[in-house]
Amino acid sequence: MALRRPPPAPAAPLGSDQLRTVWNGFRSGDVVPCPLDRAPLALTVDASAGMYRFVCTQCGAASVWFESGPGGIRVRGHPHGHRLRGA
Ligand SMILES: [Zn+2]
Repeated sequence: MALRRPPPAPAAPLGSDQLRTVWNGFRSGDVVPCPLDRAPLALTVDASAGMYRFVCTQCGAASVWFESGPGGIRVRGHPHGHRLRGA
């Protein structure tokens, strides 16, 4: 039996730059691996807010929320707390 350490609090391992790569890969049909444990990432949709987020199926690490628009994706930041604003 392998000891499983509880994962550290996921501190948004998927930044906005990495998010674009993940999103592009996902849209072209690739299975996008988690940067922490290489498990596949799943896309979570908040339909009411029109936002998306990638969550690791294994360790629960999550990306920031983002929305997909005609000009590409736009990071919305975390749903709770401060929100990030692009330049
Ligand atoms: Zn993971």
